[in-house]
Amino acid sequence: MLIWEGRKIPTIDDLDLEAKTVFIRCEFNVPVSSEGIVEDDTRILAALPTIQYALQHGAKVVIGSHRGRPWGERKAEFSMLPVSQQLGNILHKEVYFVNDCIGNERNRLLKEMGKNDIVFLENIRYYIEENKNEADFARALSEEVNVYIDDAFGNLHRPHASMAGMPYYVEEVGFGLLVKKELEVLGKAISNPNRPAVLILGGAKVSGKDGKVGIIENLIGKVDSILLGGKIAYHFLDAQGINVGETLVDRRGIDSPDSSLEADRLAAKHMLEAAQRTETTIVLPIDSRVGDDFSTGCSVQIVDNHSFPPGWIAMDIGPETVEQFSHYITAASTVIWNGPMGVFEFDPFRQGTYEVARILTNSSGFSIIGGGDTVTAVNDLGLSSGIDHISTGGGAMLGILMGQRLPGVSAVIDALEQRGT
Ligand code: AMP
Repeated sequence: MLIWEGRKIPTIDDLDLEAKTVFIRCEFNVPVSSEGIVEDDTRILAALPTIQYALQHGAKVVIGSHRGRPWGERKAEFSMLPVSQQLGNILHKEVYFVNDCIGNERNRLLKEMGKNDIVFLENIRYYIEENKNEADFARALSEEVNVYIDDAFGNLHRPHASMAGMPYYVEEVGFGLLVKKELEVLGKAISNPNRPAVLILGGAKVSGKDGKVGIIENLIGKVDSILLGGKIAYHFLDAQGINVGETLVDRRGIDSPDSSLEADRLAAKHMLEAAQRTETTIVLPIDSRVGDDFSTGCSVQIVDNHSFPPGWIAMDIGPETVEQFSHYITAASTVIWNGPMGVFEFDPFRQGTYEVARILTNSSGFSIIGGGDTVTAVNDLGLSSGIDHISTGGGAMLGILMGQRLPGVSAVIDALEQRGT
């Protein structure tokens, strides 16, 4: 059972699965080579506990997932077939692949399948109705299904039919073990963390869609300190009137499209003021690694905030900042980290991110990381075993940290409430 928003939500281990057809929505958006080989099976491994639980408890298992963005077209490059083969290899078991996620052929197979069989459906996003959350499509996906299990944590923030629609059309619903663990860990970290609790935020976007200001807003007053790195931090220094040279220019078009420098400055100002009304300290860089050009081969210097050379760009936090962050991280009982401390794609500017990863893995507090860049940095260093919880969802984790109710969670809760369960 998962307790979420004060309500009990069944998880797969609460439900009777014996001889039932159990649809498990997985997040199997994995990279596949042009030869059809799965290049990284982390997401498949993350779903194994749920799949194995279902098999061990007599279920007929149906796996549904999307891969890539085919926008409603049947594009072979996004087929789920290689993923179903890889799942079969891992489980040492035959996995029956159906080349359509809905329809008569699929329904016939679901009727005929036996206990402990696995049927793997073709890419759900071959239908644009998935992206549009169309009721008829959700209903078609639910045909011949007795139990719906959402274990696609990385997709909970998407209002798509296989997450936000299906729960209304299947008799019994619940979450898988991966979603259960993610929601338990992240839920505790944002509502009742062991103190001192530290949030480390990096990356580029402040306000607008995908901006991280919502996380700061939600966690001010709940965590003890917020350590800011990456480009975000320079928006905050800028809001304090500190000259940050050319740092804030959007050179790669990766800043939020629906934001502006002025909106970012205002958002940063509000957060600095809000923090002053609480016990939460916002900690900003005191020194930076700056470059004279936005490239990996540029000239580099380390400067403090008062001697920023005009025209230069801050692309990483400096060693004194790392030292300062280290005091907070080592003293913390809970640390949540999302977003790189600098332009870690360029060799001279990856040090801040790598140092923070090293400090975090050597610290004794409970550590949680998430987001593609952060997880990549920790994996590159071979440090992932030193992290207590590596979230499998970037956008979903951000949504939870922002205090949003994710569509995939809402649908399960609403469907349960409609039935009075
Ligand atoms: P986000 O999607 O907001 O987590 O941003 C991640 C991106 O932020 C990465 O591609 C980093 O290169 C970029 N980034 C981090 N620090 C800086 C910086 N100081 N200047 C420009 N880009 C940055």
